[in-house]
Amino acid sequence: MKYLILFLLLIIGCGKVDKLYIDPAFYPYIDLFEQYYGVNVNLDITFYSLDEPTIGQCHSTSNPYIKIDPEFWFSTDDLQQKALIFHELVHCVFGFMDHENAMLEEEPYCPYSIMHKHIVPSYCLDKYYDHYIDELRDYR
Ligand SMILES: [Zn+2]
Repeated sequence: MKYLILFLLLIIGCGKVDKLYIDPAFYPYIDLFEQYYGVNVNLDITFYSLDEPTIGQCHSTSNPYIKIDPEFWFSTDDLQQKALIFHELVHCVFGFMDHENAMLEEEPYCPYSIMHKHIVPSYCLDKYYDHYIDELRDYR
């Protein structure tokens, strides 16, 4: 009986109580986001088929959650996956619900921020990676 109780305690003790459900596909990007910006991500992030042209959505309720369109996710590269997750996390974790319209002065095809309403092209994300990562600190 003693063992049974111990066993039950262990199971409960290992349960993730703070993270509701995050699809494992997003783990690496969540970790990076937490590391870069010193925050904890405590919300559901799941795949959900969204109507075009929406590829991601932050539902900013009292229990915020994020939906990511699987069709887009599996058809794009690592940089855009990261940008999409970061974009939605800035909405849901930092509470910035707006979008940026500005473009980079030195490269007018590249949005100034990942918080542009359109996904930033991989070419831009690659070339100006440090700028995009640093720039998001302003939304905290
Ligand atoms: Zn957005």
